[in-house]
Amino acid sequence: MAIESSTSPRFFVLKHERGGSHDVDFTSIDNNVGEASRCPQCGDFIGSLPWLPPHRGTLELYGKDPGDFVRGVGDEVLISERLVEAFRAEGLTGLRGFHPVEVLRVRRQRRGPKTPTTPRYFVVTPVIGGAAVDEHRSRIQRSSPITCNWCRETGVDSIHGVVLEQGSWKGDDIFTARGLPGSIVVSERFADFVARHGFTNMKLTPTEEYTWDPLRRGPPPSSPG
Ligand SMILES: [Zn+2]
Repeated sequence: MAIESSTSPRFFVLKHERGGSHDVDFTSIDNNVGEASRCPQCGDFIGSLPWLPPHRGTLELYGKDPGDFVRGVGDEVLISERLVEAFRAEGLTGLRGFHPVEVLRVRRQRRGPKTPTTPRYFVVTPVIGGAAVDEHRSRIQRSSPITCNWCRETGVDSIHGVVLEQGSWKGDDIFTARGLPGSIVVSERFADFVARHGFTNMKLTPTEEYTWDPLRRGPPPSSPG
């Protein structure tokens, strides 16, 4: 049953907070990856190769203490035990896995306290296809045209704002949108959850304002406005 709302749901792109006081990276010592998933419609590979257990490695700490959210390998990310517990307790959805991480050591990249407080981490994967990108209302420059309307796997050259297709959202609080590979999108509920608990190393940008343009290509030429 769909509930009509006068305002469209809002979404945010979730990234790590570079240079923040909880900035941290993870380096895996194993290279254990599995087979990529396939698109249910065209059969092409979608997403990165899944990172399989055991998840062992080193935390590269740039901030004061390691944050609640750490980039992993491929599409997988590390989240702290505190975040896992709150995520489950509040019934949020969109993450798979929850495999424990073995942190072999914490390598400090900057001066700080001798023994940083390091949480236990778990590896999770945001679901793919929680919603789809609205190609007409988004400003995404693609390296090749979209050939499959389900997976929409293309190279992306630049992003100058993303809008999700109305009605395509399945209700997940965290997911990878079809047409936006490599980025994690979260619901407004998830954004509130992060703010309320004060989870660290998480940077949330409203999808409409999200920009990614490493080669300064600008917005696509056909973009409105
Ligand atoms: Zn496909």
